[in-house]
Amino acid sequence: MMQFPISELLDEQKSYQYLWHTLHPNGLSCPAGHPLPNGQAPHERKRWPVVKYRCRQCVKVFDLFTGTIWCGTHYSCSILVLLLRGFAQAVPTLHLAQELGLDYETVLNYRHEWQDQLLKKKSRSPRRCSDRSGRAVPERGRKRPASSGSRRSPASSRQPTPGPRHVGE
Ligand SMILES: [Zn+2]
Repeated sequence: MMQFPISELLDEQKSYQYLWHTLHPNGLSCPAGHPLPNGQAPHERKRWPVVKYRCRQCVKVFDLFTGTIWCGTHYSCSILVLLLRGFAQAVPTLHLAQELGLDYETVLNYRHEWQDQLLKKKSRSPRRCSDRSGRAVPERGRKRPASSGSRRSPASSRQPTPGPRHVGE
């Protein structure tokens, strides 16, 4: 396959906008889930156009990649767009890595994470519950696997309940 080193031809700002809409179709929010208000000024601009925001409610600092597979990446936005395009079009990892001048192993890892995310999205989008401090809170009312659950014998539920039933239910 012929290689076209086109990453430098793409506009960083436009690539950033594209990633914004792709990664956060419902809008950007902090790690605790507080939505970023419209027009809030960035907290840090060292890596323009990837700016950091500080949440006004919980003071957590975050950017476009926080909470995604690209968290902590040093790749430019245009490279990320081309990687996503390559993944979606099933371009072989080696070709993609060579074309974009990236490390093969790193691209392969990203590809696996990207695929994992797709599978998770297909089965069910992950739900995150957290309290105000940002700690994860166990979900209620969710059935657990039998091994970790209650020890009640199945027979007891079949026996008729002695005594009066609850009134007013
Ligand atoms: Zn927050």
